[in-house]
This record gives sequence, structure tokens and C-alpha cells, in this order.
Amino acid sequence: MLSCRPLIGQLLGRQFQRHASRSAAVKLLDQRYVELTPSSDARPLKFPSVWLRDNCQCSECFHGATRARKSHWERGPLHAKAQAVSYDEQRQQLVINWQDAHNSSYDLEWLRQRDFSAEARQRYLNDVYRPSAQLWGKTQFGEVTREFRYGDVIAQDAVLCAWLEALAVQGFALLREAPDDVQVARRLAERIGYIKRTTYGDVFEVKSKPNAGNYAYLMTPLPMHTDMPYYEYKAGINILHTLVQSDSPGGANTMTDGFFVAQRMREEHPKYFELLRSVPVNWYDIGHDGDAGKPFHSLWRAPVICLDVDGQVVRINQNATKRDSRFTVPLEQVVEWYEAYDKFLQLVHDESVQFKTRGGDVFVFNNLRMLHGRTAYEDSPKNKRHLVGAYVDWDIIYSKLRTLKFPNAKD
Ligand SMILES: [Zn+2]
Repeated sequence: MLSCRPLIGQLLGRQFQRHASRSAAVKLLDQRYVELTPSSDARPLKFPSVWLRDNCQCSECFHGATRARKSHWERGPLHAKAQAVSYDEQRQQLVINWQDAHNSSYDLEWLRQRDFSAEARQRYLNDVYRPSAQLWGKTQFGEVTREFRYGDVIAQDAVLCAWLEALAVQGFALLREAPDDVQVARRLAERIGYIKRTTYGDVFEVKSKPNAGNYAYLMTPLPMHTDMPYYEYKAGINILHTLVQSDSPGGANTMTDGFFVAQRMREEHPKYFELLRSVPVNWYDIGHDGDAGKPFHSLWRAPVICLDVDGQVVRINQNATKRDSRFTVPLEQVVEWYEAYDKFLQLVHDESVQFKTRGGDVFVFNNLRMLHGRTAYEDSPKNKRHLVGAYVDWDIIYSKLRTLKFPNAKD
């Protein structure tokens, strides 16, 4: 895993630089590919001609200051044909003369960073796009727990970076020694970028409330769930600052790595996995926040396990209190879906960990991945459990993480 020191210049292709002064070979293969072998003992780099033309870096085709393509707005470059290819040793550039009399040149280092080889693509995806998640079960909880001091996260970019990296990789982290101040969750959200506003406001207070509009505002046990399955744009992370913890035996946090459970389902119960991945569930939230709050009527239809284009789990939806009795799937899917869901909930329970935060702790977790809950507690006149929460979206977090890791990134 990469550290959080600025890494520009250390990425892709550095290992080849010592060869750069040797002579390079360039070939045009069947008009469709250009093969560049930077030195006699280096692996050849192969690029589609159409991609090269599409990404011509000349000022006619590309606006450097805004990193924006200026060409091919109306029609793609499919029919551009290369006439001649060569390598400029002095400038270390691949040079292409096209049949339509256009000329392009590409820096070797720029090409290396866009290498189509499987290893180079994977390196880019892990290093720059998103760190890969480390899935964990109950027995690994100790080794994946990361702790940071609140003051260090606020004051030091390197600690902020390490914290965000932990959220991306382990899926949660604990901040210690936050001040007794209701602004802590907001300050952390703004340290990353922007707070996410929802129908519950921008920061929200979790404490026992009379006439509670949301199940979380009761003292009863809170079953394992993810927040806001009823949103298409579900909150990315949940920042929960404990101002006052309950003196009663309860009020402990529970948590399960939902991606780990999904992986177990995929391996151990593939038929159930397929049902949870494909059958859409109706998630809903109807009400208003507080007595004077605006009314809301949120609905989102999505499976319990959501996959991305590569088949990786990207989002878990589970919240028994927010699962609609309306289930708009064909009748014959219902019973087998419940069988799969039952197995999923059993594994979520089996892999859950429990811990109790103290006043001054901030528990932060990936709301797309972690299921969380709370054991029942009791307030007393002298001790009222009080948490303040805020959300931030992953788009904002990944962006911040990249600006911290690659402060000089240009393209
Ligand atoms: Zn051009």
C-alpha cells in the first residue's frame, strides 16, 4: 500500500527511466497499432492508433491549461490513419505523421503512464483511482482497527491522508480526544471538503427523543443497518461524535464489514448471492425531521448487494426499519429472496464486532460498506447519551485523498 507522502514522479514507469538513453524502436502494425520499444531490453509498449490520434497533445487538439480535448467533438477519430511513425531520441518523443497531414508527438513518460498492459492498469487503479479494500471478519477486528488523534487530523495533512486511506481500505477508523463541542462532526466534514446535507439536516443529533420520527432516536437496540438505503445518492461516510456515552451497560456500537459478508455469500452460497445481487428491494423513508421539519418521501429500489461493472461489491443496502412492505418484484421471487436474505443476516450477525465509544471519540465508517448498530441503553436524569453525526460523500473523500497524495498532478 502506498504511504501518504506526496508521490508525484514515483508512479508508473519509473523503473524504465535508466534505459531511456538507449535507442528505441517504433513499428506501425497493420495501421491499427503503434508499437514502441523504448530500449532493446525493455518490454514493448503497444497503443491503438485511434487512441493516439484521439489523444493528440498538440495545441490544436488539446487545451493544456484546462486538460481538455478540443478535437473530436462531433465525430470520433476512427478513420484517422497513421502514415509514418518514428522516435525522437533527443526529445524522447514518439512522432506520428498522419495521412491527413496532421502531426503528433507524445512524451515517452506520458505514454508509459498510459500503458495498456494489465500490470500498469492495475497499478493505476490501486495507486490513483482507489486504494483496494482490505476485507475483514470478526477475528481480524483488532488488526484492522486504526486510531488517530482528532487534533492531528485537523492540523496535519499527513494524518488526514492516513485517516482517509484507512476509511478507504479498512472501512472505518476511530478518532480520539475530540473536544466536547457539537461542531466536531461538522469540522471533520469540512476538513475533508463538504458536508452532505440530507433530509435530516447537515449535522444530526442522535439522542433519545420523545415522539421520535426515526428509529435511531429511541433507546431500543438498533439492528445492524446501513444509513439511507432509500437514497440513490447514499451518504458515503458517517461521522459519529460521542459527546456523552451512556453509563448504562448498553449503548455499545456494533459493526460488520458488509463487503466481507458479501464475499462469503459469493463463495459459500452462490445461489443466494445471485438473488441478493439481482432482486431489487424497495427502501423507503416517509416522515419529517422533528416537529417543524419539512416533510419527506424518499424511495429507492436497489438490491442488498450492489456490484460495479467489474463485478466488485460497491454498496450494501440493509435496514430492516427502512425496508418497504411494498416489494415490487414478481411473486415467484419473493420466497427465495427471503431465504437468501436470512442467510445474509445470519452472516452479518456472525461477523459482527462490538465496542463502546467514550466521550471524545469519533467513530467514522464507510456507509456503503459497513453495517452498524447499537445495543439498547437507558438514559438517567444525570446521564443522557448524546452523539452528533455528519455525512460526507465518497466523491469528495477520494478527491481529497488524491490531492493529498499527488499535490502536483497535472493529468
Ligand atoms: Zn493534434
